[in-house]
Amino acid sequence: MLKKRKGPLVLFYIFLLLLSFRVTAQGSQYYINELFDANPPPQVLKEGPVVRIIQPGVEKPMANEEQFEPGSDLGLELELELELELEAEQPEPSQQPQPKSLGKVALTFDDGPDGRYTGRILDILKTEDVPATFFVVGEAVERYPETLKRIFNEGHLIANHSRTHADFALLDNEDILTTELIPTSRAVEKITGYFPLIMRPPYGSLRQDSVQFVRESGWKIVRWSLDTFDWDSTQNSPEQILNRIQTLHHRGAIILMHCNGPATTRVLPDLIKMLRDLGYEFVRVNEL
Ligand SMILES: [Zn+2]
Repeated sequence: MLKKRKGPLVLFYIFLLLLSFRVTAQGSQYYINELFDANPPPQVLKEGPVVRIIQPGVEKPMANEEQFEPGSDLGLELELELELELEAEQPEPSQQPQPKSLGKVALTFDDGPDGRYTGRILDILKTEDVPATFFVVGEAVERYPETLKRIFNEGHLIANHSRTHADFALLDNEDILTTELIPTSRAVEKITGYFPLIMRPPYGSLRQDSVQFVRESGWKIVRWSLDTFDWDSTQNSPEQILNRIQTLHHRGAIILMHCNGPATTRVLPDLIKMLRDLGYEFVRVNEL
């Protein structure tokens, strides 16, 4: 009996040891595909077939490596929980006045890559040292492989935004998977070696039965919590976008922007500055 009880305990200690190693290890930590294991139940608002999903907090350490390897990190969630608990138990002594921190936000860019604006967005992100997440479209990936490669090499997270930008509410579940999601991630994998398993449906449109299906097929669904409306020419002046951010910013915000228009590149430097001045740190969506 005793032996039977000790087995799992020993395994647990070994697991903790492995985790403590992981905390100190650098590299190959960004492109995790296990996030779906921690999927929250979708928060369905009253939007007909459209489902809005707010991503829960998933803390993750920043790293400074320039090369990213595809890979997987089992147990990351637990590792991070442990880290957070540690931080909570041992607050840092206040050495210097700390700037006000409002937490983390994630900039996300949909519909790329393209041949014009994505490069400019990458330039700005590089200058400002801001990591971001790009929800790419498979057809665009095939058209602009070099830009896709640059997104990857500059440390941004690549996620899946369909192959043709179809409205998933109009597709059956098998088609969503086999004609839209998988070909796109395969195209990304062919160029980067990384197969994204994080997806955002075009227009945020996904039937409830598809939410279940997509999740059970191993995907993490990420929508957004703050729309900049950079895609809408009637309300996307820099002033309008900045006013929107000023009003709607919140801890853990997933901020929706796009790769295929001038409004985004015009406002991006000021938008980054505003959020920084408010006290936010920029992370990839898997680090929220
Ligand atoms: Zn889109």
